[in-house]
Amino acid sequence: MTNMVPKRDTDPIEGRIRAMCERVKGIQQSDFYYYNIPISKPNGTATVLVDGREMSMFASYSYLGLIGHPRIDAAARKAIDDFGTGTHGVRTLAGTLTLHTEMEATIAEFKGTEDAVTFTSGYVTNLTAISSLVGRHDCVFSDKLNHASIVDGCLMSGSKFFRFRHNDMDDLAARLKEAPSQAAKLVICDAVFSMDGDIIDLPRVVELCKANDAWLMIDEAHSLGVLGETGRGIEEYFNLEGAIDIKMGTLSKTIPSVGGYIAGSADLIKFLRHQSRAYIFSAALPPAQAAAAMESFRVILDEPWRVKQLRENTKLFINGLKERGFDTMKTETAIVPLLCGTDEKAFEMTRECHKRDLFVLPVISPAVPVGLARLRTTVTASHEPEQIERALDIFEQVGKEVGVL
Ligand SMILES: *Cc1c(COP(=O)(O)O)cnc(C)c1O
Repeated sequence: MTNMVPKRDTDPIEGRIRAMCERVKGIQQSDFYYYNIPISKPNGTATVLVDGREMSMFASYSYLGLIGHPRIDAAARKAIDDFGTGTHGVRTLAGTLTLHTEMEATIAEFKGTEDAVTFTSGYVTNLTAISSLVGRHDCVFSDKLNHASIVDGCLMSGSKFFRFRHNDMDDLAARLKEAPSQAAKLVICDAVFSMDGDIIDLPRVVELCKANDAWLMIDEAHSLGVLGETGRGIEEYFNLEGAIDIKMGTLSKTIPSVGGYIAGSADLIKFLRHQSRAYIFSAALPPAQAAAAMESFRVILDEPWRVKQLRENTKLFINGLKERGFDTMKTETAIVPLLCGTDEKAFEMTRECHKRDLFVLPVISPAVPVGLARLRTTVTASHEPEQIERALDIFEQVGKEVGVL
């Protein structure tokens, strides 16, 4: 640190910064630092170029392989030609473009709702939606494995915060009973859990919400384009169209753009447009990203083979890992944990996979409980079956070497 005023040795902020830097340095020195690796070229989505080396990609959120899709790229380029790269400011004042309203109508149609509203990230979407809808005196109920953005939104709202055991409906029922009967209640869950790949028991959650007059919000970051016959998400998967009050999703995973959305009733969306601080006090999505997002929803419907291919690849991948003796926990989706045990083992697995040009990443504590460190792998529609078989063979070889198998 050069041009900063030196701080006291006992300065608590300085202490915190130093402690983190020491931890990162320690991991870097032991050669186990795999985060923030720059990718120089995504060749489609199934392989990437890292440091001049082509690596097989098994850590992508681009579940339908839409990054670089010609129609989506062309839509983004045209938006720049038509609108430039920025907007005139926040949506409420001069930032709303015809593109934004068209995009939101497209999302609403895809999700089968009256309307939709977008924000500049999925993270911010959860923060602002939750904290706009509930506050002090209200109660929020959140699955223990929900994404950090949901947890942060609940904390920011100031509501009484109940966390129920992961996907445990008896525990949710018990927590709902604890809430004052007159209090407003909001239940929030991931559709597909981002570390484990398992699916929320939507039918039972819906039942419990109805029985307890609770609102239901579902985060579809990992189910949009993944679950359901046509990729419309978790309601389609369970044949429960219209069961979710507040449908949240991100535009940065299956949809190769950036941003987040809430889809729901016209009144809910109108409320958010006039109450959400992230909508009122933060800039609009840039035109190219809005156009790319909109075109992506159309591509998903026009190319239904992608959703089908993802389903087939997922089956091939999970079954292959199980046959080879890996513990993939309860996943049924494109997020596939490969349980390693200790952080050290997860790091070693990663190192050996990278040596063999397989791009995967470890998830360690505190992101997951101690002893449940894993490779958090993902499979996409753009993987060829042979590429999946090759990866499976590498995992098996490395698993034996490191002692995970
Ligand atoms: C990634 C993710 C988000 C945040 O979305 P961004 O668009 O990346 O900000 C929210 N919820 C879940 C479950 C996620 O996995």
